Amino acid sequence: MSMSEIFEEANFTLENRRIDSEVRLQEHIDEINRKFPELASIDKEISDLTQQQLLKSLNGENVTDIPDRIEVLEEKRAELRMKYGLCDSDFRPQPYCSVCGDTGMVEVNEDGKTIRRPCSCICEILAPTLLSLGGISKYPDMSFEKGATSFFAKNPAGEKVYSAVKILAERFKIPDMVLFGTSGQGKTFAAVSAARYYAEHGIPSMVIRLSDAQELMMEYRKIVQAFYTVPDKEKRVTALRDLIVDAELLVLDDLGVEVKTPNSEADLLYILDSRAQLGKKTIITTNYDLSTLRERYGARIYERIKRSYKCYSLSPKNAG
Ligand SMILES: [Zn+2]
Repeated sequence: MSMSEIFEEANFTLENRRIDSEVRLQEHIDEINRKFPELASIDKEISDLTQQQLLKSLNGENVTDIPDRIEVLEEKRAELRMKYGLCDSDFRPQPYCSVCGDTGMVEVNEDGKTIRRPCSCICEILAPTLLSLGGISKYPDMSFEKGATSFFAKNPAGEKVYSAVKILAERFKIPDMVLFGTSGQGKTFAAVSAARYYAEHGIPSMVIRLSDAQELMMEYRKIVQAFYTVPDKEKRVTALRDLIVDAELLVLDDLGVEVKTPNSEADLLYILDSRAQLGKKTIITTNYDLSTLRERYGARIYERIKRSYKCYSLSPKNAG
């Protein structure tokens, strides 16, 4: 499933919810009208008069008396509604989500600016698909909720970086960054937790090992060049390859352990450059230090990382 299909489906769910609440409202009003025919007849009178008013004004006729008559009827209707214990909410649709009224978006204030964000109701619809497509559900134990106290008990440098990543993720402000650290220091934990946080808040994110990303790029090239590909496979590979390029947050896990291929450098450059052009953020995790990365990937990749990525080490020994 592609990202646009995922969002389309979520929108469809919201639309159905809006239709449902309109239908429920109409049923409720019908029931009220059956119970209190007097109200129904006032409603009809008001709607007839409104129509008359419209027609007359279209013909250029004088309609000054009609608004007064409507007002009298409306007052009478309000009295009756009160008498029968009805209130405004009996005549308004009751949305499934009262926070956004089933529009799926809410306005939040952030640093003095009003920003539109997905409402929690649409995040609930989107999250399972985003987590699974983005490969994040493969890491069920990695999330900010699981906490990091035990993980970083003996590694204050690691915990410091983790806390910074958490704060940035919670404000949706993760920059391009490289997390350095030997295996088991929590760099993947921090990066995956951030990607999970984004996905759970309706923001497309992805976690992929660089070796898997390269394999996927290779499959994609094959598909583009092939005479025929099984449609399902083509769809899956294309959706994943698109996500590598345009996920709001991409975690490229374990840079440096992949097998070098003739396309290694070009693929990595392509991923980093296209994401930079689209303004999408990337977290790279690696066991190697910057100079080893330079030896391994060459000057072009090294320069890009050095220029635009914030570098953090989670290793206790050479923290900073
Ligand atoms: Zn909502």
